[in-house]
Amino acid sequence: MPDPSRRSRAIYADEGDGWELLDRARAMIRAGRQVINLTLGEHEDPTPPRIVEALVAAARAGDTRYAPVQGTPALRAAVAARTAARTGAPCGPDQVAVTAGGQAALLYALLAVADAGETCVILDPHYATYPGTLRAAGLAVRTAPARPEAGFQPDLAALDAACRGARALLINTPNNPTGAVYDRAHLEGVAEICRRHDLWLISDEVYDGMAWTRPHLSPRGLPGMAERTLVIGSLSKSHAMTGWRLGWAAGPVAAVEVIRDVALNAAYGLPGFIQAAGLFALTEAGAEEAALTAAFRRRRDLAAEALAGARGLRLSPPDGGMYVMLDVRGAASGGGAFAEALLEAEGIAVMPGESFGAGAAGHVRVALTVPEAALVQALGRIRDFAARRAAA
Ligand code: PLP
Repeated sequence: MPDPSRRSRAIYADEGDGWELLDRARAMIRAGRQVINLTLGEHEDPTPPRIVEALVAAARAGDTRYAPVQGTPALRAAVAARTAARTGAPCGPDQVAVTAGGQAALLYALLAVADAGETCVILDPHYATYPGTLRAAGLAVRTAPARPEAGFQPDLAALDAACRGARALLINTPNNPTGAVYDRAHLEGVAEICRRHDLWLISDEVYDGMAWTRPHLSPRGLPGMAERTLVIGSLSKSHAMTGWRLGWAAGPVAAVEVIRDVALNAAYGLPGFIQAAGLFALTEAGAEEAALTAAFRRRRDLAAEALAGARGLRLSPPDGGMYVMLDVRGAASGGGAFAEALLEAEGIAVMPGESFGAGAAGHVRVALTVPEAALVQALGRIRDFAARRAAA
């Protein structure tokens, strides 16, 4: 067999895909062990029934043929209205391309704005897929830190240096895994760096409805940024629709047109019945979205209470998102060692910080995705486990 391409082999050449611990937890579950899974950012709650009904009605009505590749006009109008409201800059339907989740939007956006061999900068820690997505697009990965002691806000001086000669910068606020919501001063710094180095900004805002301690601010709304920013959005987190694969990219018309060309050649668009249900979710299911996101705010507060004064681990309560990061350096040599030992001893699966970059070493990420009673119980066991290891 001829070799696969260097580009595809490079996707995970240096490291695994970051999900090895989840794979191990799944194997334990298959072998009959009880495991509490706090790894994936996936709601325990099912998709709200009214959204499912909208899909069934559309499919029954015959919306099962090829659908508009860029998205139906009605869905694009709904995404545009949401983007304008949440980013503070006007957005029209021709500025939106609907994609198979935020993940496809990330890849398509990178393919649309940067050429193979160019550099994209990401912050460390970062969402687990970012380096692989960049490499799949043929791009070189450069990182700049967002350190725990700075509340995981970007180090602007280091970012400025990293962006020299780059083509694009990819940021994520509210942030997965750190829970940071970037504040105005840092976002203004990011915007200035983008303008200075003439960069495209890919702004991943899939958690834009989950900011707790300060409002979510989109860099797209800052002066001179709408013309160089592509916002990535998704219904996965806001409407408990992870498996539906419905997301989008929104930005300047010329870039969105190229994203449509990429989307046409990748998947030829999304099923019409999924787009119809997505339209329903965005226009009719505001109450469901509010209830789903409020649950994470409550769980975040519960986690802070449950882990206050813990030995061997430290939680900085997150500003937003679906996760908490625990600094476990008092209980283990690294996040991976802690997560593996916790899975073995307690049957609780959490993500090693190292899955999200070297900047999260010594941490683990806990997804707040189980109901309150189960979460408090699991956190109590993590707390006791860390205390035992700290004392040993
Ligand atoms: N971006 C971030 C920061 C995420 O956490 C996720 C999923 O966890 C995604 C993008 C991709 O989401 P989806 O493809 O399900 O829309």
